Amino acid sequence: MRPFVYTCPKTVDEAIHAYAPDTRFIGGGTNLLDLMKMGVERPVRLVNINRLPLAKIEEHEDGIRIGALVSNTDAANHPLVRTRYPVLSEAILAGASQQLRNMATMGGNLLQRTRCYYFYDPSYKECNKRAPGSGCAAKVGYNRIHAILGASEECIAVHPSDMCVALAALDAVVQVTGPKGERSIPFSGFHRVPGNTPQIDTNLHTGELITAIDLPGLPFAKRSTYLKVRDRNSYAFALVSVAAILDLDSAGTVREARIALGGVAHKPWRATKAEKALVGKKLEEATLREAAAVELASAKAYQHNSFKIELARRSIVRAVMTAGEKNA
Ligand code: SF4
Repeated sequence: MRPFVYTCPKTVDEAIHAYAPDTRFIGGGTNLLDLMKMGVERPVRLVNINRLPLAKIEEHEDGIRIGALVSNTDAANHPLVRTRYPVLSEAILAGASQQLRNMATMGGNLLQRTRCYYFYDPSYKECNKRAPGSGCAAKVGYNRIHAILGASEECIAVHPSDMCVALAALDAVVQVTGPKGERSIPFSGFHRVPGNTPQIDTNLHTGELITAIDLPGLPFAKRSTYLKVRDRNSYAFALVSVAAILDLDSAGTVREARIALGGVAHKPWRATKAEKALVGKKLEEATLREAAAVELASAKAYQHNSFKIELARRSIVRAVMTAGEKNA
């Protein structure tokens, strides 16, 4: 047992002022507590944010604002989310288990860490994410669940969230507050590729607290879906997942496509090349196969995960076709 200081502020200002070096904010704790038990995270101070007034879902401008402390269950089942953003509801319900979704918060979901086996097991000395400069055990070890896009020599881990894949496709905006005030972070700039600093998962500044997630008004998001391919039908992380949102004209031609991939990269991967390849085209399987091939052209596999490249191509085709069959 490692001792730590524990505080329970009642306002966002108090929480920000309670932050000091080696502090972690804790909401549901569904990932952080595991990491602490494994000795991967060793905070000296925990700031419990569950008393902060951040648990509402409200209409905001032409979209909606989801407070950082809304549980994953409440967000997935909220009528505004279910009717206006089915891709987000489906993605959340595809993740974890009912018990975990009841505890997990929206803000915390953004901050969950990779499930790379070597990261979670400190008996492996080589992990640049856990111990910068130590190496990467996964590159020469068992790497079936690892990245095929955007990895680096230092780290080939993938982001584990389903919810974040949908938020990437929706172009959500993350609202944060910190010692220097409030700011808005576009979702595409929230998570990082590993580069040579894989120990840093996000572009949050020191001491910043997530307060809300904004979803833009996006009428065609009703025509959306989330496909998750995994080893078993529940309580398993994605091998590959796809969030697909489609804007079609009355003749079935693609005006805009939003496609994001999970399980393939260090961050939710926006498939911009595939999206561009679809604009102005009829939604046909051959066209989709070509668009998926363009997106995966730069994919790089390791010893045990080459199957993910073809799986990602096929998953894009299936998810976008499924989205296209829905009514806007
Ligand atoms: Fe660590 Fe990343 Fe390598 Fe996994 S893939 S062992 S998290 S450096």
